[in-house]
Amino acid sequence: MLLEVKDASVNYQKVSAIRNITLQAPASGIVTIIGGNGAGKTTTLRAISGLAKLSGGEIWFDGQRIDRLPPEKIVARGIAHVPEGRRVFPDLTVEENLRTGAFLRRDKVQVAADLEAVFQRFPRLRERRTQFAKTMSGGEQQMLAIGRALMAKPRLLLLDEPSMGLAPVIVEEIAVIIEEISKQGVAVILVEQNAELALELADHAYVLETGDLVLEGKAKDLHENDHVRRAYLGA
Ligand code: ATP
Repeated sequence: MLLEVKDASVNYQKVSAIRNITLQAPASGIVTIIGGNGAGKTTTLRAISGLAKLSGGEIWFDGQRIDRLPPEKIVARGIAHVPEGRRVFPDLTVEENLRTGAFLRRDKVQVAADLEAVFQRFPRLRERRTQFAKTMSGGEQQMLAIGRALMAKPRLLLLDEPSMGLAPVIVEEIAVIIEEISKQGVAVILVEQNAELALELADHAYVLETGDLVLEGKAKDLHENDHVRRAYLGA
């Protein structure tokens, strides 16, 4: 397994956000974490990327323990995080935003090649490379946020609610992009409230409810699960 979260708990002061969560991501494919508001999905991703401190448990990446490392060391190991609400730098241009994703990298020639690859994947970002990020549409900002994360050359990409607030046609576009990224060998952990989308894209799925892991399994099995259908798929 590329990533192993073992028995992880996070507290915010007295609030217990996640309790004894155990989950895994293999070196390729898409794993999804679904659940309602406040279930602990964002907290789980923040724990993996070092932004939330564990109060218990361990996180291992590529055979090494990472839960005591600062976020920039975790990025350098190969985990990139696209946060909820696609926080791009509003007053930087598209290209400047993309370059911030590579700030830890010293391999300048390879960075230039990766910038070119991102522009190939997202032609709209190339067209808008000198435009300020704040003037981009929601879908374009989501593409920019994903492009910026790819500039870190991750082995594991954490995506927090990439479909949030986007029109259905843009959501479809983002879904295709996520599949392509996965096919090129980057492991993906996708957090979504849109369970239909998440279960369609993912190979394996975890269900969080108020901080507890309540179900896990193959995404296609969970799609047929009665509880999942009633609680998350509107059946
Ligand atoms: P959503 O989809 O609504 O973002 P989520 O599943 O991502 O939900 P989290 O954001 O991880 O859930 O929140 C889990 C719990 O932790 C919630 O009860 C939330 O109120 C609490 N929480 C999250 N961040 C903080 C914080 N910085 N301080 C205090 N409590 C927090």
